[in-house]
Amino acid sequence: MLIDSHCHLYLDDFKTDIKEVVIRAEAEGVNKFYLPGIDSSEIENILLLEEKFPGKCIAMMGLHPCSVMENYQDELAIVADWLSKRKFAAVGEIGLDFYWDKTFTDQQYIAFKIQIELSLQYNLPIVIHTRNAMQETIDVVKEFVPKGVRGIFHCFGGCYENAREIIDAGFYLGIGGVVTYKNAGLAEVLKKIELIHLVLETDSPYLTPVPFRGKRNESSYLKYIVEKIAQIKNVSVEEVAAVTTSNAEKIFGL
Ligand SMILES: [Zn+2]
Ligand SMILES: [Zn+2]
Repeated sequence: MLIDSHCHLYLDDFKTDIKEVVIRAEAEGVNKFYLPGIDSSEIENILLLEEKFPGKCIAMMGLHPCSVMENYQDELAIVADWLSKRKFAAVGEIGLDFYWDKTFTDQQYIAFKIQIELSLQYNLPIVIHTRNAMQETIDVVKEFVPKGVRGIFHCFGGCYENAREIIDAGFYLGIGGVVTYKNAGLAEVLKKIELIHLVLETDSPYLTPVPFRGKRNESSYLKYIVEKIAQIKNVSVEEVAAVTTSNAEKIFGL
């Protein structure tokens, strides 16, 4: 059994063949799909997919840093409202992204911290997105470690020192297709990191692993990520599956 801890299967990319996508994933042993939030425009699609595949597709709630704009306070109010109304697997994806646009840097920090506070209020893990902001993101998380914040750094692509700091903060590393890319350097980092700190993700439809790099990603491709990690760690695919699944269950509490 495998868990895709981070996939956007509710996006239009999957509109015509989501059923086949889920069937193909299940044929590869992937039977839980955690759906990170982006902003209010996608909430309905996430909840509809959850309804369509109960117990398999599981919703998170959060405002993505790339969706932090002028109206971010309204968006945060919507996140807070949903969290008060029903159960979600996590607050996510949240964090800092200075890659595309730095106009709303200050607001990104505010939104990140407010949503961490919400995760603590509802005793939920957080799923962190960080791009071109690794150290800044780690520093924010560290502020909240004494209060009990926990969760995943999704799509981890940092160096060994970053990984160490994240693990020391009690967080897990979400490993996806990047691990199959040559020159990414992630394989060297993972050689020194124990499996008990890792969870698996595809981030579908993005970050497609080799041999399908460049095409649409889907959850059945998790198997290429598992195989690559097994090869790097010199263990069986069964061991990678068992440990990472148990890690994801611990985080999401299911
Ligand atoms: Zn992300
Ligand atoms: Zn994502």
